[in-house]
Amino acid sequence: MNTKELESTEKSVGIDVGLENLAVLSTGEEIKNPRFFQKEQKNLVKAQRKLSELEIGSSGRKKQKKVVQKIHRRVRNKRSNFCHQTSRQIINQFQYICIEDLNIKKMMQGSYLAKSISDASWNQFCQFLTYKAAEAGRKLGVVNPAYTSQTCSQCGNCIEKKLSERTHLCMECGYKASRDLNAAQNILALGLDGLGLIPRSLRL
Ligand SMILES: [Zn+2]
Repeated sequence: MNTKELESTEKSVGIDVGLENLAVLSTGEEIKNPRFFQKEQKNLVKAQRKLSELEIGSSGRKKQKKVVQKIHRRVRNKRSNFCHQTSRQIINQFQYICIEDLNIKKMMQGSYLAKSISDASWNQFCQFLTYKAAEAGRKLGVVNPAYTSQTCSQCGNCIEKKLSERTHLCMECGYKASRDLNAAQNILALGLDGLGLIPRSLRL
């Protein structure tokens, strides 16, 4: 047995990565984006603007370049620590971990994301989940994110929503939940299905 392998559990989770929160779990738990991301992003914009105003080749510019690099490094380290901690907690708790295919998700979200630091966090969070799951003997289900926000996780009814609509309210069965929680529940069901863990009789 691999020393990093954890004792097996029956618990499973679906994870929706988002913009407001780094992630929402199908259990209802929300993992908030740490506030320093926004703060550091502002610092970075300021430092970069100052850099662009300094004359090329000047000693002031060289100094300012170091300032910018330092902020980048700080953001990277903090993000990495945060992603290590949160992915570790999830791996410790759950046997079956279901996430979305990020490449498809990013295409669906368009350029809006490019401005956001979330993008890099999603990548790292999911990379860490993937390798920690493998080390611990956990199973990872990767699902296509199409319709995970639109489908009702309780009855399968499709309710179209714009990205700005944050609540899921089903007219068929009356289920009400945050958009991201409903998505996380769909990701869980699709992921378990993909892993061959849902009996055919229970499939929608
Ligand atoms: Zn419903």
